[in-house]
Amino acid sequence: MVVASIDIQGGKVVQLKQGADLVLQRDDVEALAREFDKYGEIAVIDLDAAMGKGDNAALIRTVLPLGECRAGGGVRTVDDAARLIDWGAKKVIVGSTAFRVDGKFGANGFGTNLAFLEALARRIGRERVVVAVDAREGEIVVDGWKTRTGLPLIETARAVAPLAGELLFTSVENEGMMSGTDIEALRALKEAVKQERDPTTLLTVAGGVSTIEEIRMVAEAGADVQLGMALYTGKVSLGEAFGESLNWKKCGGMIPVIIQEARDGQVLMTGYADREAVRETFVRGNVCLHSRTRDVLWMKGANSGQTLRLRRLRADCDRDALLAVVEASAGVCHTGAWSCFATDQGLRKEIACSLPKGDCPRSFSGDSWKPPRGYLNIRAASLTPYVPGEQPRDRAYIKLNTNENPYPPPPSVIEAVRNAASETLRLYPDPACTELRGAIAARYGVEPENVFVGNGSDEVLAFAFAAFFESGRAAHEGLPVLFPDVSYSFYPVYAALWDVPCETVPLRDDWTLDATDYLRENAGLIFPNPNAPTGLALAKIAVARIVEHQHRIGKTAIIDEAYIDFAAPGLSAVDLVKAYPNLLVVRTLSKSASLAGLRVGFALGDKALIDGLCRVRDSFNSYPVDRIAQAAALAAVRETAYYDGLARRIIQTRERVCAALAPNGWTVLPSSANFIFIKHKTRSGKEAFQRLRENGILVRHFDRPRIADYLRVTIGSDEEMDRFLEVART
Ligand SMILES: *Cc1c(COP(=O)(O)O)cnc(C)c1O
Repeated sequence: MVVASIDIQGGKVVQLKQGADLVLQRDDVEALAREFDKYGEIAVIDLDAAMGKGDNAALIRTVLPLGECRAGGGVRTVDDAARLIDWGAKKVIVGSTAFRVDGKFGANGFGTNLAFLEALARRIGRERVVVAVDAREGEIVVDGWKTRTGLPLIETARAVAPLAGELLFTSVENEGMMSGTDIEALRALKEAVKQERDPTTLLTVAGGVSTIEEIRMVAEAGADVQLGMALYTGKVSLGEAFGESLNWKKCGGMIPVIIQEARDGQVLMTGYADREAVRETFVRGNVCLHSRTRDVLWMKGANSGQTLRLRRLRADCDRDALLAVVEASAGVCHTGAWSCFATDQGLRKEIACSLPKGDCPRSFSGDSWKPPRGYLNIRAASLTPYVPGEQPRDRAYIKLNTNENPYPPPPSVIEAVRNAASETLRLYPDPACTELRGAIAARYGVEPENVFVGNGSDEVLAFAFAAFFESGRAAHEGLPVLFPDVSYSFYPVYAALWDVPCETVPLRDDWTLDATDYLRENAGLIFPNPNAPTGLALAKIAVARIVEHQHRIGKTAIIDEAYIDFAAPGLSAVDLVKAYPNLLVVRTLSKSASLAGLRVGFALGDKALIDGLCRVRDSFNSYPVDRIAQAAALAAVRETAYYDGLARRIIQTRERVCAALAPNGWTVLPSSANFIFIKHKTRSGKEAFQRLRENGILVRHFDRPRIADYLRVTIGSDEEMDRFLEVART
């Protein structure tokens, strides 16, 4: 294997002769890292940090995720090392700290700082630890080679080896001089670091390796090379060095190549490469193989244009097989299949993903796949979480930004909370919410088995995505789940969380939802009625048409009725639940029931759907609805008259505000919710938002395509809305 080195000083890539004289300087560090990653690991060293003269932390952070990097320079504590791993380093290189104990060398045995190395191995794993042993005439030197330690190279290396995954050996008299390295010392060192037990300690040689001959000798001695000066001065190329480090003898001049797709890890095909093919792969940036039938060099896709773009080439542990990590532009198999190992013959379809193009780890159209950061898995690292409206604490605002109800819940609900705050809190709540479900069922004319209660309707929706929409690789080869492009922005977040392929369906230019857009094959669908943030309601007949279509194709329809209580009577799809086993209606107590702080939402649907939600819930958290929430929600569900009164009041205020805004430069969409969606004729959405904010009024502005010029304004109390109108009208 070949390791390319990137030494950074003063924000630039530098090469120093014998650790002192600057002989080369470049500032294209990111491009270098991407290029070097094709050939092997990269050693990124912060020379300023190593010399205790500041650091290049910001730059190091940018570079580490770009390749398989080992990082070093100024690693003095276990925390320093852990930070580099967090930033994306695969391994950490430690220098003098591995030898110095209380400022002295040779304190115990051969002078290793055993306590430090042990702590380091415990924290980041032994195999991630690279100990740099720099030696001049058989003696270890540290601090940029300025300090002699009196420690003998071979014996010290032997002492360090059990605690390090790798030793990085630099012969100081040769570094940066390109006068050849000491092969004898290398063999002795290799012998010294041989472990009794697996895994062995790897050995890499830095400094002075400057010819293909030397690279071959180092490889034959069982070590890897790190190239710096020779690389930058063009004396050897990484491609050549890579080719030379392979075990051609063992595989008779023809090495097997396993080809893997970079973006999802799928194995696409295998082939064979000779020296020429390996060299050409690097030169052309596309995988080249040797055709055994025609006995010629063969660049895959040379005729069709469907090439395999090289991300990186790696040798296996004994260097007689290669892994080519590529980006395939089309199916690779002669049958037309995506992979030669595919069981189905069809080409993989473009993968639909809710993440922005380029951010999706599975996307075949995005170019900039981002590697996972730190300890996050790919899915967690690629999530774009929902951002709720702010709950500011800096001053008292008129809060019209999260569709909360301006009026309090009824006294009976507060009373229920008080009563539930008793010694019974030591007991778990009823996991089935039996009483509450009974009350909800009675209220909506269904059976308790048709009711599911969750911790806010957001949780119910998340469970519904998990229970009813297919996820994973197979799903991505099939049809997407549909929802409107301008809608509740939590839907794409759930889709990404559960890896559900989805597709947004554009609303019409007048922001209405056209039912016919949904009458097609799909994997399920969801939309709010009334829609958010537009506030527009979809006629019951249109909802029924969509649900009926979904029933015919055997897929679920989820109608999110968070705002239904502010719409005209008779709009709800609840009475369709009995007729359609594929319909799930989701409700919340957060908006019309003035209980956003309680977190209770529920779903109504066929027993089989409700059972599905229970399966997901019980695989996640059996008690999402606590005792207090169950008691308060139970009281709330019985307060129909009180809440009808609140809704009427809010609707009245809403209509008054709409009438006042229209003649004052605002476009106002007709709302069926407890918010309005408005646009100013001259001010941008951002300006209008800022202006209101400066006047102590918080509204919601979505900086997203199509709706960036709109504001969503919650209907508050009459006094709050008077103040809002005062500011909005000027
Ligand atoms: C507010 C809202 C919800 C979430 O309500 P909670 O029950 O508070 O989680 C769900 N869907 C839509 C469309 C909403 O606007």
